[in-house]
Amino acid sequence: MPGPKLDDLALLKLVFAAGVIGAGGAGFPTHKKLAAGAKLLVVNAAECEPLLASDRYIMREFPAEIVAGAQSVAQALGIPRVVIGTKKKYSREIAALRAAIAEAGAAIEIFGVESFYPAGDEQTLIYEITGQSVPPGGIPLQIGIIVINATTALNIQRGIQGVPVTRRFVTVTGAVAEPVIVDAPVGTTVEDLIKAAGGTPLPRYAIVRGGPMMGKQFQMEAAATMGYGKADGGLIVLPADHRLIQFCSKPIDQIIAQTRSICIQCAMCTEMCPRYLIGHQMRPNRVMRSVGTNTHPTELLDALLCCECGICELYACPMGLSPRRMNVYVKGMLRAEGAKITDQTIHLEQSESRPYRRIAQSRLIERLGLGDYPTQLDNCRSFEPQKVIIGLRQGVGKPSSPRVAVGDSVHVGDVIAGVDFSEAGALIHASIDGLVSEVTADQIKIERK
Ligand code: SF4
Ligand code: SF4
Repeated sequence: MPGPKLDDLALLKLVFAAGVIGAGGAGFPTHKKLAAGAKLLVVNAAECEPLLASDRYIMREFPAEIVAGAQSVAQALGIPRVVIGTKKKYSREIAALRAAIAEAGAAIEIFGVESFYPAGDEQTLIYEITGQSVPPGGIPLQIGIIVINATTALNIQRGIQGVPVTRRFVTVTGAVAEPVIVDAPVGTTVEDLIKAAGGTPLPRYAIVRGGPMMGKQFQMEAAATMGYGKADGGLIVLPADHRLIQFCSKPIDQIIAQTRSICIQCAMCTEMCPRYLIGHQMRPNRVMRSVGTNTHPTELLDALLCCECGICELYACPMGLSPRRMNVYVKGMLRAEGAKITDQTIHLEQSESRPYRRIAQSRLIERLGLGDYPTQLDNCRSFEPQKVIIGLRQGVGKPSSPRVAVGDSVHVGDVIAGVDFSEAGALIHASIDGLVSEVTADQIKIERK
């Protein structure tokens, strides 16, 4: 339940003190995202990455805290309207949220979207709920909207009650003995998360950190040293030679060569692009053409609008090309040159075909070769590792600076790294009791005594 009404600065300080960052993937520091002046707060509960189920779990198990977190933000920032955006088909979750809203007497709406990918993309969800597009290259606040993830709302509420973010619900699935949601301390290694799911029968495996569409792929050698962070909601174990792993591991030189030789300019990548379909001039076929022909350099600017959802390369392209990887490559070059989007015109005519271009999640799962794995998980298991490896760059923004040294004794909740309140970064807390055994610029390792 929300406590006494907070003003905006008091709320931001509590959120900062709890080390809350966006839990939906990018990990933007939440105290920098929450700002007065918005007219709508959207709680993004439309988890759309195939196989991931952690947000659904918390909607069922902690609906009152999600509702209270959203209420507290709206009250403190004076936001008049709150909408929880989720999937229509999540009937159990919607029932739990409705009961919590009624219990709290809260004026919170629930908006159900169809089950398509990427319904949980922040800008796609805003379009679904309001019919408005965020300006190209802009942020939701430009149209008076703030979006927070459902887990972030939960973490905000716990932060208000003085409980920092030291644990994370992670969907551990794929080729593991018992796909399950694991409630684990921040910094639990991939190896331990796989153990928590009963291990894997595969002698050689690869891992996807995040969802299959937007996650990052690693070979099994990384499992012992990679600690999961506050923004990591999914871990998928796959055979090392799975086609998703092979496709996403192609070297950039090969991608460029393939772009030059076999892109047929069919524009399917553009026709299916969710950012194009909300009116942005994100036309991956033009980026591909420009790279392929070394002409039309202004076309490359489109790459700056790419949200890296993966539809163009994992679903749309009939030639098996990689427009997303190409966009990421081009974006890196453009950003190094300081290039920016200046034209924020929205082309609403592009959105007319949206309803016909939504990708059903079931079709996507088959296309990705993930049909053998469960799409719904009900079980959650707590796991207590002997050690944690806590990253100091858990999201976008300034990395956290260590505030402990090797040999220090720490307890759950102690601040071990951080930034100042004025900075776009986050505090990081110890997630287990133990001794600090390693401190680098990138991570802090804690082992139980
Ligand atoms: S869908 Fe593939 S072949 Fe068609 S334009 Fe895009 S990258 Fe080229
Ligand atoms: S990854 Fe492809 S489909 Fe997704 S936003 Fe970028 S260009 Fe569009």
